[in-house]
Amino acid sequence: ANNINFLSDLTGSFSSPCSENPTVRMIEAGYQKEGMNARFITCEVGPEKLEQSIKGAIAMGWKGFSCSLPNKQEVIQYLDELDTSAQVIGAVNCVVIKEGKLTGYNTDGQGFIEALSEITSVKGKHITLLGAGGAARAIAVEAALAGAKHITLINRNEERGQALVKLIEDNTEAKASFTQWTQQVAIDSQTEILVNATSIGLNDAKAIPDIDLASIEKAMIVADVIPNPPETKLLREAAKKGCTTLNGLNMLVNQGAQNVYNWFGKKVDRAPMKASLEEIFNAK
Ligand code: NDP
Repeated sequence: ANNINFLSDLTGSFSSPCSENPTVRMIEAGYQKEGMNARFITCEVGPEKLEQSIKGAIAMGWKGFSCSLPNKQEVIQYLDELDTSAQVIGAVNCVVIKEGKLTGYNTDGQGFIEALSEITSVKGKHITLLGAGGAARAIAVEAALAGAKHITLINRNEERGQALVKLIEDNTEAKASFTQWTQQVAIDSQTEILVNATSIGLNDAKAIPDIDLASIEKAMIVADVIPNPPETKLLREAAKKGCTTLNGLNMLVNQGAQNVYNWFGKKVDRAPMKASLEEIFNAK
């Protein structure tokens, strides 16, 4: 019994509000499957407590932490280094602590691209994104870095949309254009992959982005970032038209698995991670 180790490797998340964030279940399902002596702790931390919390994590020897709203940009000022994606996107959702040094990553967009890769490659594709917030930025940048040809951004707020166009054109080989979101906005017929990266549909199975459904063609792949409920109204309508669809669950699982890889250098089995989320979302 002398060699039992009662000290776990610690990881966690800093966000606010956090009580409804199921990440802990997903990550710990992965740890358990792999027999890792590791824990993940959800912490209610907003920008005003972020610096102290990071110092605490370093002091306690945490392997790292994930960041969710509203800390994804705020956290950057406390980091020593940024991975390329995080630097271009300008937001961090995963921090690795190694020998007291902090490195920021952004795995949201990578999680999406990886989920999409089970259906198609983004190389040379025309992608239309609804939204220009954090999720849209991450997806647009990763898609462009992965070789997408053109990205059309449809957003309500023009300034945010134009800023993302500039970001893509300044930092990647892809072309980008902005379309003002007007009522029943039409999807460009050149679109090969349509992605809802707005928050419309979160916790609301009846909500749908205000687009002209008649402009969605059967050949388009339609994806949604919303993990809950996974089958959003947009995806149900697209499926009715015969489109191939992709929900937000695998994106969430993939970014979580990538975070664990960043912390431990270990590839975890994603199946129990996904199953844990499905159980939670179905129970609601
Ligand atoms: P942000 O607040 O940064 O951005 C929200 C975006 O949605 C903005 O572009 C906003 O437009 C747009 N929007 C919101 N309401 C409307 C509306 N009624 N009509 C038109 N546009 C609207 O949020 P995030 O990008 O961080 O998150 C968006 C969603 O992505 C969340 O619901 C989250 O759950 C999901 N997500 C999923 C992940 C996954 O792994 N599956 C990972 C990260 C996020 P405007 O700029 O005009 O205000």
